[in-house]
Amino acid sequence: MPETWQFEIAGLSIPLHEPRPILDQLRNTYADFQRRSDNFKSDNKNPHLCHAGCSHCCKSGAAFAVTLAEAVEWSLAIAALPAAQHKQATDQATTLLDQQHRAFPQIEGPPDTPGQREEPLFSARVTKLNATSPACPLLFNDLCSVYENRPMLCRAYGFPVDAYAVESAGAIVFRSLCVLYEGMQLVDYVRAKDLKAKLAALSHRLAGGRDIGRFTSAEAILATIKKPPNGKATNA
Ligand code: SF4
Ligand code: SF4
Repeated sequence: MPETWQFEIAGLSIPLHEPRPILDQLRNTYADFQRRSDNFKSDNKNPHLCHAGCSHCCKSGAAFAVTLAEAVEWSLAIAALPAAQHKQATDQATTLLDQQHRAFPQIEGPPDTPGQREEPLFSARVTKLNATSPACPLLFNDLCSVYENRPMLCRAYGFPVDAYAVESAGAIVFRSLCVLYEGMQLVDYVRAKDLKAKLAALSHRLAGGRDIGRFTSAEAILATIKKPPNGKATNA
């Protein structure tokens, strides 16, 4: 019988279908992005500023959204953190969630309903929350405490990536999301639209063929996973 885990997030209890093979595919997707971004970096004409200890992007404006598959992978890593880091992460995520509950209603529209979010409205609400310049609860001593398991947006942040390009007046502007790249001339970009689509497809399968939308980083950091009795409970 296929293994099912239960994922508790944002007031929802979601049965996860075939979590192990799907998480393996998620890790392969991350590895694909790593290969493509390494290729980009290896070409000297492409500027690249990211390095260990550069945490500007994690210190301010670091509230964002993740798919279900990314949230589950993140949650497993967070559950394995040393106690002090785990406490810091969950305390700060609780504060960030309070900020979220104040910020989201400032964007007019139907009440925010995790599991049934309409993407444009949800994105606008996350942008509103991000305007309060929150730090990511997972930053510890200027380093990401879950670096190997960080979501796709964190991986993409220091690159111009087609999946996160801005489209205006029919033109696509490729730019790195990070402000430290402002003013730099970019002649190439990382191709990752297919990888972003794969995250959505994996999340759809993980939820048993349902589309339950995305979650905020605060919700994902506070999520818990319950495994069957013969499995090991995590993050609970
Ligand atoms: S994305 Fe920007 S702030 Fe973040 S590590 Fe890279 S250069 Fe530093
Ligand atoms: S998960 Fe890690 S890389 Fe991503 S914003 Fe948080 S601290 Fe930064």
